[in-house]
Amino acid sequence: MVYEVIVDISNSEVDKVFDYHAPFPVEVGERVLVPFGRRQLEGYVIGVKEKSDTHFEIKDIIMRLDGTPAIIPEMLSLAKFMIKKNLRYVDCLRLFIPSKLRGGRVKIATENHLYYNTSLTLEDALAMLKKGAKAQEGIVRRMYEVGEEKESVINQEFNAQAVKTLIEKGILTRSTIERDRIPKGMEIARKVVTLTSEQQNAVDIINNSGKNTFLLHGVTGSGKTEIYMNIIESVLKEGKTAIMLVPEISLTPQMLGVFRARFGDEVSVLHSGLSDGERYDEWRRLRSGKARVALGARSAIFAPVSNLGAIIIDEEHDTSYVSDRNPRYFTVDIAEERARYNDAKLILGSATPSIETYYKAKQGKYHLITLRNRVNDKKMPEIETVDMKKEIRRGNVSVFSAPLLSALDETLQEGNQAMIFLNRRGYVSFVRCRSCGYVPKCPHCEVSLTHHKEDNTLRCHYCGSKFKMISECPICGYQDMRQGKVGTEKIVAELNRIFPQARVLRMDNDTTTTKDSYIKILSAFNNREADILVGTQMIAKGHDFANVTLVGIIDADISLFVSDFRANERTFQLITQVAGRAGRDNKPGRVIMQTFTPKHDVYRFAKNYDYEGFFDKEINTRETTKFPPFTKIVRLLVQGDEEQVTASTARMLYEKLAVLPPRKKGVIRVQVMRAPIKRIEDKYRFQVVIWVDAKREDDVMPEIYEIGQSIQTKGVVIFTEINPQQML
Ligand code: ADP
Ligand code: ZN
Repeated sequence: MVYEVIVDISNSEVDKVFDYHAPFPVEVGERVLVPFGRRQLEGYVIGVKEKSDTHFEIKDIIMRLDGTPAIIPEMLSLAKFMIKKNLRYVDCLRLFIPSKLRGGRVKIATENHLYYNTSLTLEDALAMLKKGAKAQEGIVRRMYEVGEEKESVINQEFNAQAVKTLIEKGILTRSTIERDRIPKGMEIARKVVTLTSEQQNAVDIINNSGKNTFLLHGVTGSGKTEIYMNIIESVLKEGKTAIMLVPEISLTPQMLGVFRARFGDEVSVLHSGLSDGERYDEWRRLRSGKARVALGARSAIFAPVSNLGAIIIDEEHDTSYVSDRNPRYFTVDIAEERARYNDAKLILGSATPSIETYYKAKQGKYHLITLRNRVNDKKMPEIETVDMKKEIRRGNVSVFSAPLLSALDETLQEGNQAMIFLNRRGYVSFVRCRSCGYVPKCPHCEVSLTHHKEDNTLRCHYCGSKFKMISECPICGYQDMRQGKVGTEKIVAELNRIFPQARVLRMDNDTTTTKDSYIKILSAFNNREADILVGTQMIAKGHDFANVTLVGIIDADISLFVSDFRANERTFQLITQVAGRAGRDNKPGRVIMQTFTPKHDVYRFAKNYDYEGFFDKEINTRETTKFPPFTKIVRLLVQGDEEQVTASTARMLYEKLAVLPPRKKGVIRVQVMRAPIKRIEDKYRFQVVIWVDAKREDDVMPEIYEIGQSIQTKGVVIFTEINPQQML
């Protein structure tokens, strides 16, 4: 037999299959140790064949590393699917196992158990003891009762020397068994609910229709989680397994508690906050079939479960589902492939589906199920817009409008809680007229321009167009064009000044540097240890606080005017999500949204919770401006140590693509420019942005990858991103 092995080494020249023999049988999917050059390296057996066609000497596998295949056959086929998308084989395989398994850096945890020798009666055993050996006698009586107990427990209650003596006498035996390290969750009592007719209808459609892929579009609070759990229950009854994905930030101990209350030990959780040991054990429980429900963030899509019955992706539109580092993959792509392989159901859920997903549903690619009502007929909170231009004209230049201040005052008086939301987006900054609200846009791309401090220009991040910064508004002539930049800290300071008696908490990147900190902040707020929670995007998602009756959005425009073709979509999603935090329990909620452009379509649709209206408008814009889903925006990011070399590499790439065959005409536009951030970690950055006709994607992409690979310059690396979530 000849074994095909992918060697676990980060080097693009080595990312190919090597043939090995073995003096012992090896299964496909096993990790092995192989000789490689003068070294010994770990590798993955991805296939076997009768004979090799290599002319090189074929060496022997040195040893098997795990004894059983770490990678199931389905995942080997998944890797083949992924490498067609320009990913490296070894990077894919590494995604499928706990990273610390490599290099043997994580071990199975064990513990010793003691057993009573059942061939002895209690009298026999006691007769074998020395007179007055109190501890030994205690142990014998206890072990005779229970039969088996952890050695650590007995040692602690009695003493280790006594245990040792009893083993020597043959009264007790000891054996070492594997122990699972189980991640902590909250103990939550199972809530039994009767599904509403909308929920039941959704469950029936998913279970009974011949279709396999669904988009569950349900307003916030429509009870989607209950639907997911019902589907998982049916899947488990059929003896199959399920994967349930949620955004990392939603994976709270409560969430795990709810799933454990429903599915007990069948649930295994995978997220970035686990210890290496916990992650390894949860992975092994799934791999062995002891657990059949994988609950996790993005990377849990690679859970080693066989015989999948359902994959559920909650908050499908969330950006965390697109991997932002290498290997870059789209969770939904992987989910579709795994669902296809297993003939499993794929359910995408959201109150605000991404435009691309909703378009697919409209095209019939996903079966669309709509939930229009909140559970128990609770009302959606009312959204009021406040025109900040008017506030300024009235002489109010603070971050809070008069209506928001009086609403805050009222909320505090009533003893309720408020959330103040600031949708700040990293370094991105736009320029806006403080009198008429005008924001300059790219004449070619219809996206807002970004202000670049270093040369005081306005730039389009897609086509690279550059304009001089303006100081006077071309529409109304007002002389105050500037960036409205406030931070959460400033807001907290203001709140402390205006409402000195109010207790204010802040949640943003600065206050959540450690893993537990956001859970701490959220539980403090939940326990009413604060009256106002100020935060960024982090407070927008999924949280369920019963006493929040007011949500304030400081400057809705911040996400609307970033230089990003998804700006409208993101803003609609954010407003809907934060608004969904108000009035979740019995008290009605209200939302106050401050903006300089109150008449903007996005706000009109968001106010009315009119997703469909928003979608129709947006999809039209995307079609005329040639953005996804009608095209794929491909960004080739060129990074290098030397500015000149990097620039000329980007230029070369551009020229090859611009004159181009890429299957002729499948490419609509190509642009080359500096990346929005021109240098990161001492690397110079340039980018080539390509608009690919979505219908010709399969044709064109392989050619683009090939061109990317053909231009390998020393010290320059090219990354490919498709429809990047953020262009930095
Ligand atoms: P969504 O995910 O759609 O925003 P959730 O699944 O979080 O909504 O449900 C909102 C709330 O309604 C939760 O507290 C949930 O326990 C409750 N709920 C869901 N379904 C029912 C039902 N059929 N009867 C009563 N309460 C329900
Ligand atoms: Zn442009």
